[in-house]
Amino acid sequence: MDSTVFHPDFKPLPYWWEAIPIGTNPEAELPAKADVVIVGGGLTALNCAIELGRGGARPVVLEAEDFGFGASTRNGGAVSGGVNLGKGMSGAKAGDGTIDPVVRAMIGDAAESFTHIETMIAREGIECHYERCGRFVGAFTPKHYDGLAARIGLLNGEAKAEASMVPPERQREEIASDFYRGGMAIERSGKLHPGLYHRGLMAAAERHGATLIGRTRAGRLTREGAGWRVETSRGTIAADEVVIATNGYTGGLTPDLQRRVIPLASHIIATEPLDVDLARSLIPKGRTLSDTRRVLSYYRMSPDGRRVLYGGRARFTQVGPEVSAPALHAMMLARWPQLKGVRVTHAWTGNTAFTFDFLPHMGITEKGLHYAMGCNGSGVAMLSYLGGQIGRKILGGGNHVTAFDGRDFPTRPFYTGYPWFLPAVGTYYRFRDWLDRKVA
Ligand SMILES: Cc1cc2nc3c(=O)[nH]c(=O)nc-3n(C[C@H](O)[C@H](O)[C@H](O)COP(=O)(O)OP(=O)(O)OC[C@H]3O[C@@H](n4cnc5c(N)ncnc54)[C@H](O)[C@@H]3O)c2cc1C
Repeated sequence: MDSTVFHPDFKPLPYWWEAIPIGTNPEAELPAKADVVIVGGGLTALNCAIELGRGGARPVVLEAEDFGFGASTRNGGAVSGGVNLGKGMSGAKAGDGTIDPVVRAMIGDAAESFTHIETMIAREGIECHYERCGRFVGAFTPKHYDGLAARIGLLNGEAKAEASMVPPERQREEIASDFYRGGMAIERSGKLHPGLYHRGLMAAAERHGATLIGRTRAGRLTREGAGWRVETSRGTIAADEVVIATNGYTGGLTPDLQRRVIPLASHIIATEPLDVDLARSLIPKGRTLSDTRRVLSYYRMSPDGRRVLYGGRARFTQVGPEVSAPALHAMMLARWPQLKGVRVTHAWTGNTAFTFDFLPHMGITEKGLHYAMGCNGSGVAMLSYLGGQIGRKILGGGNHVTAFDGRDFPTRPFYTGYPWFLPAVGTYYRFRDWLDRKVA
């Protein structure tokens, strides 16, 4: 391992796991019957369980691995309310200037997802270093800057994003770097500690009456009367309803959903603690950062303000830290050459779930299984919200029908869930990024 990249105390684990003991699971036994069985132990499942519990139902959450194994404790902790959803929607206005009502409803839901997560954190008293810090999106080229400017009306009008353009000459107010060509600042965004958010959700779900069972994989799902029989690695459980909340870890249990999501790897590094003044200077307003490259980077400071957490699609597939960390480290130095000599203490990876229409989806499969998935890389707020909406829908009556509910969930011929094409897409995107900058 390259000693200019890797710190001697390097761990191939999420930095967030330093604060949460992964491997300790609730001790509950598998009951014979539940009102609702929820498959997957991430934030979609737990938000669903909390809503169900608050409504008087008794859900059981089954996690195949340790609680916290999935993306929910591995992510960057950036909380957005519709910013990413707005991508490519600048053309959402009809000729007469009106906005497509479906687009309006989707962006409205995205804004609502932000309200949901802030409300959940406050109501359940979840201490996860949540801060409404805002986000800066760096424009990779002047053309990208114009693209962001074209979208700002939609974001402010429909998502109440409180966004404003930051021209290149004011960029250093946002980031101690000249790497970008200006960008957009979005006030209505935040950041949290994903590990602590997840632990707080687990505690809240249990308080509201949910049973959480780790290291228990859901197996065959069979209709039994109006309900379900769920075979698991620890016995069988009957349920009135089943919710699939497996996102980027959706497998052969639900082949019809597996062929609709593309498990795309995302990777993050954490640096060793920096000198205090250097650390403070990097992101003067403490925002989360992302950019407009096709091979996206997302980064921020750790909650104690001392480390850089730098994430991105170093590769589109699962690779070890010996590949991902040097690639991310180089991307970080391209933005902040002043970090030369700073080494990496943690590197990790996790699966996001992309969809063929780049939209999240919730609904009920032909067989009658509830689901919410397809975060396209930014599900902390959105899947928390959609998970909660499934809960309310099952309870009946209480849910606002989201614009993502029951929409056509596309797949492609011959695609079964194995994304053989991702390495080629990654190479092509890297080439396009290089070309965009070259001709700019
Ligand atoms: C590296 C990375 C960075 C990210 N950064 C951000 C970010 O900054 N902001 C943002 O908004 N989003 C981000 N995301 C996306 C976000 O983390 C996800 O959208 C979200 O966590 C998905 O939550 P989930 O509960 O649906 O799925 P997960 O948390 O992935 O949980 C799914 C779980 O299902 C379990 N499972 C699968 N099959 C079975 C079975 N048969 N039985 C029982 N359990 C099963 C798996 O073990 C897994 O734990 C990032 C994702 C990654 C990977």
